[in-house]
Amino acid sequence: MNECAPEGLYISYSRNYKQIKARRAACVDLNTKKNTNMQVEIDQNSGFCFGVVYAIEMAEDHLKAHGELYCLGDIVHNDKEVERLERMGLKIIDYEAFRQLRDATVLIRAHGEPPETYRIALENNIQLIDASCPVVLKLQNRVRSAYDEDRQIVILGKHGHAEVNGLIGQTQHEAIVVTSEEDVEKLDLSGPVSLFSQTTKSTQLLYRVKEQMEKKTDDLKFNDTICRQVSNREPELRKFSARHDVIIFVSGKKSSNGKALYGTCKAVNPQSYFISGPEELQPEWVRRAESVGICGATSTPMWLMEQVAQKVQQVQAEAVKN
Ligand code: SF4
Repeated sequence: MNECAPEGLYISYSRNYKQIKARRAACVDLNTKKNTNMQVEIDQNSGFCFGVVYAIEMAEDHLKAHGELYCLGDIVHNDKEVERLERMGLKIIDYEAFRQLRDATVLIRAHGEPPETYRIALENNIQLIDASCPVVLKLQNRVRSAYDEDRQIVILGKHGHAEVNGLIGQTQHEAIVVTSEEDVEKLDLSGPVSLFSQTTKSTQLLYRVKEQMEKKTDDLKFNDTICRQVSNREPELRKFSARHDVIIFVSGKKSSNGKALYGTCKAVNPQSYFISGPEELQPEWVRRAESVGICGATSTPMWLMEQVAQKVQQVQAEAVKN
């Protein structure tokens, strides 16, 4: 066992023998040494996915030209980025306010919407700027086609999540939403079934749910509909998490993708911490670390991760001074 690793880090070291050797070679007493050589790295694969970039660019273009735009729900699950856009004139509204609105322009965010939203917009003379992510639109079409073939639709997703609501809306609200293998155990499945996933769920969880469903039905059509912008990040994030002493994961607390990717970091590196912004960083997490990795979700802006990196460097500089 690596005696010089902070408690809990051994698990990640044990996965890669070369890494254990390299770490041992560079072994220092992390409990006593004042750290003058700290490395802070921002994961260049983290940050906005193209769906979020597209939605934010559409909002910014409209705001620059008109100074005001309504958005149905948070444009991105990141309060700091929402606040930035609100300062430009974005107004976030909920579904109740949307139903009351007339003669206005409303942005549909990347999560997509069910058919009812488009119907209400038509009735209320609302002009939509549709920034639904193309990946989500394709998933909606696949769910609708499977429903039209009289298959029972099961969706792995979060109850009440906007993307999931958009998917259920394709099935006259008949789709069943599951969140875990345990939920599948309770299902009474008869007839043909199609399984889909919210685009931001964990790949491992989806495959566990699939296995559980295969025990319950002989007629399962499985659709791996996890977005590659998410699933491709998991292996990269595992490597990134293993090569740093401490991981600071930056994400809005409402982000499903943030929860899933943070779980990936934590499984590899127990010294992983979830924060929403630099003000939540606790100095003792990073003060004595040799290397700190900063990463985030598909809804985390790069500028926010940069602020966190600056805060980490500030903590380190103070630790050296004292
Ligand atoms: S995670 Fe994928 S599906 Fe979701 S908005 Fe981003 S690109 Fe689109």
